[in-house]
Amino acid sequence: KLSTGELKALVRTVPDFPEPGIQFRDITTLIGHSEGLSASVHHLAEIARAKGAQKIAGMEARGFIFGAAVAVQLGIGFVLVRKPGKLPVSTIGVDYALEYGTDRLEVDPGSITGGESIIIVDDLIATGGTALATAQLLRQAGGTVEDALFVIDLPDLGGAAKLQQAGVAVQTLMQFE
Ligand code: 5GP
Repeated sequence: KLSTGELKALVRTVPDFPEPGIQFRDITTLIGHSEGLSASVHHLAEIARAKGAQKIAGMEARGFIFGAAVAVQLGIGFVLVRKPGKLPVSTIGVDYALEYGTDRLEVDPGSITGGESIIIVDDLIATGGTALATAQLLRQAGGTVEDALFVIDLPDLGGAAKLQQAGVAVQTLMQFE
């Protein structure tokens, strides 16, 4: 199994995307690599198993890739956290602030059983806004949310600290300063 250091070398950095000055950490190259994808999922699944996850929640769209694979690995269910207007049933949603404007995430409340332990999985944590909104949404739907796992952390943006304050412990496979 590839080490997390070897996985880090498979992440492509794209300068000036989506705006000038941003270094985008692109997982396309990581997930396109057979061992890169499987080792990423194995490392995340080991942590989720140790935490006793009863369900995995992943955010649209890259959270679906890693989250669903981790859920399969553990033999547990997966919760879709979707962009607005995508789910075919009545949803509960949460609005959250972006650098410019706001965004919204929605979940089918029927996808969560009261009190079950749900672990959040996404590709990357930056400011933590997306993951914090997800934790609020899952809690509103009755889930217990104490952990969030990411392939990549951008520690300079403070996301992990923000989640910690909300009672969500963060673990990541690698960091980019
Ligand atoms: P946050 O809400 O923590 O500021 O941003 C994290 C969300 O934006 C995640 O859902 C993640 O997919 C996306 N994101 C932000 N910056 C990057 C990046 O450099 N690379 C990737 N792969 N995703 C990013």
